[in-house]
Amino acid sequence: MRIDRREFLAQSGSCAAHLALAAGMMPAALRNAWAQTPTGVVVAREPFGNLEKVADGVWALISTPLTGERTTVSNGGIIAGRTGVLAIEGFQMPKGAEWLATKARELTGKWPTHVALTHYHADHANGVAGYLTEADHPKVQSTSRTKELVLEKNQPADASRAAALKDAIIFSATEPTSLDLGGRKVRVIPRSGHTDSDVSLELDDPSLVFCGDLFWNGMFPNFVDAIPTKLKTSVRALRRAKETIYVPGHGAVGRAPEYDRYVAMLGEVEQAARKAHAAGTSAADAGNAFTLPPSLGEWALFSKAFFPRAFEAWFRELK
Ligand SMILES: [Zn+2]
Repeated sequence: MRIDRREFLAQSGSCAAHLALAAGMMPAALRNAWAQTPTGVVVAREPFGNLEKVADGVWALISTPLTGERTTVSNGGIIAGRTGVLAIEGFQMPKGAEWLATKARELTGKWPTHVALTHYHADHANGVAGYLTEADHPKVQSTSRTKELVLEKNQPADASRAAALKDAIIFSATEPTSLDLGGRKVRVIPRSGHTDSDVSLELDDPSLVFCGDLFWNGMFPNFVDAIPTKLKTSVRALRRAKETIYVPGHGAVGRAPEYDRYVAMLGEVEQAARKAHAAGTSAADAGNAFTLPPSLGEWALFSKAFFPRAFEAWFRELK
């Protein structure tokens, strides 16, 4: 793997280390399947990801970090209105954010006017300075807690990242925020569960949700900061009755079947963790012994090494 041990330790609070480790254990066929299942029209293809048009004026960047390419690592996207363009996520590296901004200008005629971070993890936030240029100063927005966590936990610190966040406009942690992009309103909904502070970015027409890391499609999620009962609440709240496009934090764009499979997978983990806790089994033992039922299909390909972390998260809440 192209991520070395020291780097892994420095980033162990991020999704990136988790992904890099997972990649080494994942069969090549699955790594490729991840990269090659677009639901929209691919308008740009790079070693680190594919930019897909998922609706009029909406594009999702589906990162493909399992190849070892770590420019972006997380998914993100672009939502365009008549007067404003929102870029979602700061990505792992500034050149990832700069790339997305360049694409936004090619596709919409505008550099992003707004940037939103869904949560603090390095692969979603660390490259945010890439949106700022001599001429362009988009409004960078996050919750206060996310800003605080980026600055505290994402080490080594970086002066340009701190500068990009210094004047960040704060999303309310309790009330939805509406971003008016001109003929298009994006609702920013404060949630939690993947971390202490997550937001989803939501459109009603088309029905489309950028879920951040509250939804992972095709890979077992990172529970390092998870609060499983809150995660469960958030995941249920994101599910819409009508036909909806769900852009996950990691993995291909999903619709109801993929989203429901993820919900079922989380349910299996909860059930097993509660049972183990009640039986007095340790989180490590229970996690190491855990398997997902074959009915959940491809999830069965995950390494067992990631289960204990999920069980530990449940045990933190159950004790
Ligand atoms: Zn994350």
